Amino acid sequence: MKRITIVGGGQSGLQLAIGLLQKGYDVKIIQDRTGDQIAAGRVLSSQCQFDAALDHERALGINFWEDTCPPVEGISFTVPNPEGPGKAVEWAAKLDAKGQSIDQRVKMPRWLEEFSRLGGNLVIATADIAMLEHEAKSADLVLVASGKGEIGKLFERDAERSPFDAPQRALALTYVHGMAPRENFSAVNFNLIPGVGEYFVFPALTKSGPCEIMVFEGVPGGPMDCWKDATTPATHLETSLNILKTFTPWEYDRCKNVELTDDNGILAGRFPPTVRKPVATLPSGAKVLGLGDAVCLNDPITGQGANNAAKAAAVYFDAILAQGDKPFDEAWMSATFERFWDYAQWVVRWTNMMLLPPPFVLNIMGSAQVLPGLAHRIANGFDDPRDFFPWFADPAAAEDYLTSLQAA
Ligand SMILES: Cc1cc2nc3c(=O)[nH]c(=O)nc-3n(C[C@H](O)[C@H](O)[C@H](O)COP(=O)(O)OP(=O)(O)OC[C@H]3O[C@@H](n4cnc5c(N)ncnc54)[C@H](O)[C@@H]3O)c2cc1C
Repeated sequence: MKRITIVGGGQSGLQLAIGLLQKGYDVKIIQDRTGDQIAAGRVLSSQCQFDAALDHERALGINFWEDTCPPVEGISFTVPNPEGPGKAVEWAAKLDAKGQSIDQRVKMPRWLEEFSRLGGNLVIATADIAMLEHEAKSADLVLVASGKGEIGKLFERDAERSPFDAPQRALALTYVHGMAPRENFSAVNFNLIPGVGEYFVFPALTKSGPCEIMVFEGVPGGPMDCWKDATTPATHLETSLNILKTFTPWEYDRCKNVELTDDNGILAGRFPPTVRKPVATLPSGAKVLGLGDAVCLNDPITGQGANNAAKAAAVYFDAILAQGDKPFDEAWMSATFERFWDYAQWVVRWTNMMLLPPPFVLNIMGSAQVLPGLAHRIANGFDDPRDFFPWFADPAAAEDYLTSLQAA
């Protein structure tokens, strides 16, 4: 049976590895931290996934939190009134199927356990080029699914597919217990504060049970880019609450009784969204294939990274099975990524658009307040962003679409 080595035991690497083990492949994962270390470390993401991505996990039977993770039932969108208190835009719509966010400090240790239970070979090490060379000699296929890890720089940046070369948001996460639930139904509450950034919040499952995850996306240099001095858990929480009090008081009202889930329930950082060429050549000439964030890294503003990683793993899984006994050569590697890119290009375009929304996009988002069908479509587009096109990319298509909705 074919031997596959995967560097990185995260969303994409572990999902693919478990699927391949179930099909009888000989799979090795090289992962830089043990499950215990991941569980004891900082939060990594807000990782809200929607139905299509969750379905890939269900298909493998690794959806261990189906009943314990609180559901995300919808999406709400709010723009504060620029003239004074209150809201200029507010709408909410239900998802056709629930989303879920399972703290990766809960999920990855459990999946690592499952990987070992199925007979996978787990090597705890930080992979470098020499290690990749060694694997390329013995394995039929080497995949690099290292997320934002340094080793991913092995893959050349694809300038044509990467419009930004600098971070577009100052990011922060705050995991809390005790937030008052949203009325009517649970949702990703997305607040867009023009010129300042975005704040979204939704229910999730963490190590200590159900929680809410606050996500801050500050425009660099703006008032939400303010994490430099928040060096302790307490000051991080205080900074989070100050932002809400200033820009989204309705969200602050939900936070009267919040406390951090744990001292590691915080994160701050930034990175440039980057698409890379999917195949890298090692000094020996051997080829390795990138997977997930390593080659398709999006800003979290649209919450797509873990969804993309799950979908990429599913595309690669099918392509590996379909290849049978034939070699995983460079042509196969490129074709496999392009099959994923057929889907991912729309995610990347939509996400990049939301980072610098042109007026017609703001008009679409605002119009959903009076067009429930549009609100429903936007909410469910988070599950499959291909549905946003062409009307989210082209002012004329947007105008036609809005006119047809208004007429109806
Ligand atoms: C602030 C923030 C909020 C987010 N919110 C969401 C959201 O709401 N929804 C969503 O879908 N996505 C979200 N994401 C993105 C999502 O978390 C990632 O896209 C997803 O985890 C990527 O999966 P992956 O398999 O590519 O990489 P990862 O899950 O990052 O896994 C990579 C693994 O490789 C390991 N590794 C790295 N280098 C090496 C090495 N040299 N050797 C061995 N191991 C190595 C890492 O330790 C890690 O375990 C968010 C991200 C951030 C930063």
